[in-house]
This record gives sequence, C-alpha cells and structure tokens, in this order.
Amino acid sequence: MVVTRFAPSPTGYLHIGGLRTALFSYLWAKKNGGKFVLRIEDTDKARNSEAAAQAIVKAFEWLGLEHDGEIIYQSQRDDIYAKYIQQLLDEGKAYKCYMSKEELDTLRETQMANKERTKYNGMYRDFKGTPPEGVEPVIRIKAPLSGEIIVNDGVKGEISFQAEDILDDFVIARADGSPTYNFVVAVDDALMGINEVIRGDDHLSNTPKQIVVYEALGFSIPNFYHVPMIHNSAGKKLSKRDGATDVMAYKEMGYLPHALLNFLVRLGWSHGDQEIFSMQEMRTLFNPKDINKSASIYNTEKLDWLNAHYIKNTPNAQLTELLQEYDLVLTSHDKKEILLDAIKERAKTLKEMADLIKEVINRPASYDEKALKKAFKGNALEVLKTFATKVSNANELHLPSDYHHLMQEVVDEMEIGFGKIGQPLRVALLGKLSGPGLDSVMSVLGKEETLLRIHNAIDANS
Ligand code: GLU
Repeated sequence: MVVTRFAPSPTGYLHIGGLRTALFSYLWAKKNGGKFVLRIEDTDKARNSEAAAQAIVKAFEWLGLEHDGEIIYQSQRDDIYAKYIQQLLDEGKAYKCYMSKEELDTLRETQMANKERTKYNGMYRDFKGTPPEGVEPVIRIKAPLSGEIIVNDGVKGEISFQAEDILDDFVIARADGSPTYNFVVAVDDALMGINEVIRGDDHLSNTPKQIVVYEALGFSIPNFYHVPMIHNSAGKKLSKRDGATDVMAYKEMGYLPHALLNFLVRLGWSHGDQEIFSMQEMRTLFNPKDINKSASIYNTEKLDWLNAHYIKNTPNAQLTELLQEYDLVLTSHDKKEILLDAIKERAKTLKEMADLIKEVINRPASYDEKALKKAFKGNALEVLKTFATKVSNANELHLPSDYHHLMQEVVDEMEIGFGKIGQPLRVALLGKLSGPGLDSVMSVLGKEETLLRIHNAIDANS
C-alpha cells in the first residue's frame, strides 16, 4: 500500500509551495488506494506555535484535503526517539561526543583556514577513555566515511552523493537529549510506514543523512520524489509579493478551493496540455514520475482564469452560500438568479463577484467624474428622459429582455447608436462605465429603483 505524508513545520502559515507538495502526496496516495498522513514537525520549540499548527489544519479543511488517521505531532514522540537513540548507542552505531563548543569552533576555524570542508573530525568515534568532566555530550551517528550514497529520485533520477564530501558523524541528539531534525524525520517516516516521500527539492541535501539513519536502524528506505521549487515570472524563488503567502489568504481573495488545487497540480506537473482537472481526474491521472525536472513558474493570470472557470460552473445556490463569506447575503433577493447569472460570467474571484453585486444592489453614492464627462455629452439627458418615460409607461417589466426592448426602441426612434443610451444609463444605474449587462441590472433592480436612479442622474446633471 502506498503511504505518503505531508510533514510541515508549524513555524508559520501553510504557503502555496507546501500545499503543492501536500496535494501531490495526497493525490498519489488516493490514486493508489493508499494513505495520506499529516505529521506536524513541531520539535523546534522556540519557533513553533500551536496556532500555526491549527492554521495548517484549517487550511486542509478549507481545501477538502483529508488526511488519514490522527494527526501526528512530533513533540509528543520524545520517548520513541529516545528509544531509537538508545538502540543505536547500544549497537555501537552512535556514540557520545564530548567535544566542547570551543573545541568545535577551533576545529572549524582550522579547517576553514586550510580551505577544507568544515566537518566533525570523528574525535570521539572510537573513544574508550574517561570522558572530560563538565561537558554534557551530544550523540552522533556513525556515518559512512567513504563510498557513495545513492538516492534514486523519482523526479531527478539517480543522484550519487560522495560520503566523504557531504557527510560527517552528525548529531542525532543534542546535549539536552532532544533529537535532531534529520533523525526524527527518518524515524517517523519509517514508523509511519511512509514508503513514498514527495517533498520540495530544498530537502534534497537532507536525504543522504536520512538514509544513514534508515540504514543504521535497519529500516527500509522509501522512494523519494524531490519536487523543484516554484519560481516567479522573473525566474526567482517565489516571494511573499508573488503569491508565496498564507493559503488562507487565497480564500480571502476569493479563490475557490478547487481552482487553487487545479492551479497547483499544474505547477510542475502536466498531463498533455490539459488545464482543467476535476478532483477525480487529478486522483486518477497524477503520477509523481511526470513531475517536471525544472522549476515551475507561478502565474496569477492562470489562477484567475481557472477561478473564473470554476465560478462560472458553480451552481447559484452554492455561490449564494459562498458569497456570505464576503459580506453579501442574497438569500432572500427575489432576482438573485438573474443577478448571479449576469455576474458570474465576468468575475475572476468571489470577492470581485461580491463587490460587483454590491455595486448593483447599492444605489451609487456618487458618479465617477471621468465616466460622467464621457457619458453625459450631446443629447444624453434627452435620451435618458425618453427611456425613463418608456420605462414608466410600461406595464410588464420583469425580464432583462423586457428592458432590452425598451432600449432598442429608443435607439431606433432617436436614430442613435447603442452606446448613446448605454453609457449615460450605465452611469445613472451604477455610477461608472463598467459592470454587468444593463438589461440584467434593470431587471434585478426593478422598475421603481431603475427609474429612481435614472432621475437622480438626470437631476445631478441638469
Ligand atoms: N518539516 C519539513 C518542512 O516543513 C518537511 C520535511 C520533509 O518533508 O521531509 O520543510
């Protein structure tokens, strides 16, 4: 059975890069009928926060990414790590190192002066004597001193690391007994039965160390997939400004969870040139072997395009519910179908959708100066008055097409282009020159409100 995991350190919010590896791991497990486990790597007590862990869980809930089983918190597993450290000590695969900080500093300085790689020199590796007093030892693992460590990476292919160049007997437990990062990751992945590790390639340099731990403990080594980073359009690492921000900020900005997931699955993975993927398709088609070898480029237009697509395809009842998050309650609006149909065609985000709808529902508090100048020239007032009279005399005005007919009549009778009525009418109704189709707007507003807004504009410009 395929078991994957997402193992965030709760030092901050869940960001877009982390979410992408979580999604890849989730999809790969689900495709294989396997398990996707969530492990919170909260061993760094100074930098971790419970709030950050909760925020990650919340983001998962919003996105509908369900993890299997209980969430594992590393901070609750000290006893387990201590047991394996003891095992390595007992088996002679790890040892206590009494080197003081000063000695280590001197060693490093000498190596640097000799232009050598800075590394621990194995001083206590085979130490049999009496340990110095007053030094709490750290515990180091015996790493191979020569030979190579091969990582068979599912994305990057075979990567060989020369032990001599990259390893030393690294610390697995600090002087206070707390285990170190690479040790706990390897122990947990093994104990949790993780056999497919998908993570960012910023972790690639940790992998040989983790393999040393696996081998020392006799655990089988999982398959690794190191996913290239996400870059901005300038080819640089994604920054906060580019979108490397809290996943929940995407909710605030009005993105649908599925649009975000669809966007992320295509960042670094492809299936022909298909862009739109249902969750079911993602689950059946995703394969980490198809992850691109090079960095992917974050593209906001693509995200907006996908979001607009999913907004258009979301049923109105569901949109009504979602829009409540953006302070818009439409539940009892009798024309909400016409309103939503008109706006969902043009909004890129739910937030934009809510704003556009508010612009229709709320009478304009003022008129855009530029729009006024542009729209209220020539015989605009006369056109508006003619139209207002027609609206006022009409008996049955309900549908957008009812209003459209009246506009058409004015255009025909006054022998003007559509813009000559459209522009002043738009400013009268919405206060500006952009927005959804006017026939829909008037149908939503109803006869009385339509007339009132037209008269207000006529008064303001007479
Ligand atoms: N906790 C690590 C991080 O948040 C991830 C560890 C891993 O995926 O192996 O960067």
